[in-house]
Amino acid sequence: VPAAEEKAVEEKAVVFRSKLPDIEIDSSMALHTYCFGKMGEVAERACLVDGLTGASYTYAEVESLSRRAASGLRAMGVGKGDVVMSLLRNCPEFAFTFLGAARLGAATTTANPFYTPHEVREFAAERGIPVVTVDGRFDGCVEFAELIAAEELEADADIHPDDVVALPYSSGTTGLPKGVMLTHRSLITSVAQQVDGENPNLYFRKDDVVLCLLPLFHIYSLNSVLLAGLRAGSTIVIMRKFDLGALVDLVRRYVITIAPFVPPIVVEIAKSPRVTAGDLASIRMVMSGAAPMGKELQDAFMAKIPNAVLGQGYGMTEAGPVLAMCLAFAKEPYPVKSGSCGTVVRNAELKIVDPDTGAALGRNQPGEICIRGEQIMKGYLNDPESTKNTIDKDGWLHTGDIGYVDDDDEIFIVDRLKEIIKYKGFQVPPAELEALLITHPEIKDAAVVSMNDDLAGEIPVAFIVRTEGSQVTEDEIKQFVAKEVVFYKKIHKVFFTESIPKNPSGKILRKDLRARLAAGVH
Ligand code: AMP
Repeated sequence: VPAAEEKAVEEKAVVFRSKLPDIEIDSSMALHTYCFGKMGEVAERACLVDGLTGASYTYAEVESLSRRAASGLRAMGVGKGDVVMSLLRNCPEFAFTFLGAARLGAATTTANPFYTPHEVREFAAERGIPVVTVDGRFDGCVEFAELIAAEELEADADIHPDDVVALPYSSGTTGLPKGVMLTHRSLITSVAQQVDGENPNLYFRKDDVVLCLLPLFHIYSLNSVLLAGLRAGSTIVIMRKFDLGALVDLVRRYVITIAPFVPPIVVEIAKSPRVTAGDLASIRMVMSGAAPMGKELQDAFMAKIPNAVLGQGYGMTEAGPVLAMCLAFAKEPYPVKSGSCGTVVRNAELKIVDPDTGAALGRNQPGEICIRGEQIMKGYLNDPESTKNTIDKDGWLHTGDIGYVDDDDEIFIVDRLKEIIKYKGFQVPPAELEALLITHPEIKDAAVVSMNDDLAGEIPVAFIVRTEGSQVTEDEIKQFVAKEVVFYKKIHKVFFTESIPKNPSGKILRKDLRARLAAGVH
């Protein structure tokens, strides 16, 4: 047997696939065409509801508004290959502009929407970028109503399946955030893996009412809530920000059936005496992803959602983002163990490799999780080096997560090889904070690592080497960072130290620092 063939046979034995059969996925069309695929059946059904104002838009209206947004954007000069930046909190306009930009062959990049109008104006003015505002206005901006007043775009741009449609940012396994190029093909494939096919209990259905509370600027919500909801023909109720009272109110008012959450929200609901089982009785499925949720929390939460099943999903921006999800939420035919984040999605391959040797591992052996399929990113924008380090020559995306697959094909994540910190599910890239910290005149060296936290999952903490004679305090350092970064990237604790442990090539030994935290020796 030739060596290559032998290797292929060997690999086949340790490649994990979905328990469900693959499906036919037509990714030759544009993403918006695919998402509106059920238009014939759902045209008059409520598609998007603004939970704040109560404004409701049918599928036909959302499609029309996306065409009008497209024509407004085109009038502003947006065309094929351009990038539109959305700095929005969750609102229907997010969907109109995302879909509108897609029609023009443009991509949408997302960023945190907590910039002040002043910062946005300055940023845009310096670069000559036109700005559209949804609420409020300033000199030189265009209001959304003016954009949308335009006629419908008569014909979409000529779109190739490998054109980029979404450009979220992620730091991946190392370094600073990078643009993740997700194409029409990747997002169609990812959404199809979640909602298409015959099994009605798999995920969203046409008669579901889905809560869109997680921020749409993160790919989890954009893909698995908005796009998957549209494709399924569900009603999507949009919530601007998390508030327990408002959440209960919306669940009751709109008879929400699907609630995609992240673990910190699950913790709050599980712990709050204000939320009773009756409040959440309409929910048939709670989905949690973006960060780990342990067995205890999962079990405690179940008591609050009497009629629902709870499933974890496992995602990574670069993977499109869904790698795995709990298959059948109806508990049949595949019950899922608590603590597991489901099984690999259909039309994809997953393997576990030894991080040192790269050799594929069998069941129950922890190693780095790798995924392959048409849903994964095309690569990092303008960064072939990082792309090469993440997607290997055989097309496997290396996640930097450590996990194993058990005898029932369920995936358990046990550790993280990569350096990102996940605060309430949001990415905090240590490299970004370290670069900021060392600009402080009294900081000689700095390292940022994660520390476990009951509510947030992980919090970013800094080890700091002060310059000689400096008396700079923990509070001063925290404030210095807080002034520059979005709320979830703030430093929560500072430990002063003599030196930062590094390997001979200068790489910070984060494991050593985390071990110090675990041992209580800072
Ligand atoms: P992001 O690209 O921001 O979605 O972050 C992706 C990373 O979040 C993954 O590579 C994991 O480290 C972590 N993550 C996502 N979902 C889960 C989950 N269900 N359990 C544990 N970690 C998760």
